[in-house]
Amino acid sequence: MIIILLGPPGSGKGTQANFIQNKLSIPHLSTGDILRQSVKNETDLGNKVKNIMAKGELVSDDLVLDVIKERVSQSDCNLGFILDGYPRNITQAESLNIVLKDIDRNIDRILFLDVDFEVLESRIESRTKENNEEKRADDTSEVLIKRLEEYKIQTAPLGEYYSNNKKFKKINGMKSISEVSLDIENFLNNGI
Ligand code: ADP
Repeated sequence: MIIILLGPPGSGKGTQANFIQNKLSIPHLSTGDILRQSVKNETDLGNKVKNIMAKGELVSDDLVLDVIKERVSQSDCNLGFILDGYPRNITQAESLNIVLKDIDRNIDRILFLDVDFEVLESRIESRTKENNEEKRADDTSEVLIKRLEEYKIQTAPLGEYYSNNKKFKKINGMKSISEVSLDIENFLNNGI
């Protein structure tokens, strides 16, 4: 099963992607995680994207497309995968269609985790106050606000782009984590 997980920063995509990964035993491909790992390892890609990510801007479509092409061709993706953080704009959605067509695969589910912007802003506020090991370099309030702005301009239009697709479903991301997981599970099982 090929699943696209859409939603703004702070909508709980990472948490729910882990839930799906455990349920279906398919890998969770997070472009954010892959890029952060490249930055950490100081690869060519990492060095190119480091400053852009630190500002909360989007990395160029070409660079992320290479990452995706490379990743989905690995053998652990044979039975499917969860895309988290990709596509992030219409151009990337069109590129994804081509990549999947080339390998003769189809998108099976498109999940949109819907969270009101006021709720996100308060989640962002508490995220910046956290002080744990997982805290990211781009989790400062200034950068989070920028990431949210980028989302509104570039990524939110994907909701409209996919809205006529029968595989698309908007899920209320403001319920509790376990309730959201249950709604996701129902949609994965039944397609409704
Ligand atoms: P968020 O929690 O804000 O959704 P991610 O972990 O998905 O964050 O991504 C972190 C950063 O990685 C983004 O702000 C952006 O710079 C870069 N990035 C991740 N995925 C993409 C993508 N598909 N296109 C462009 N940039 C991306």
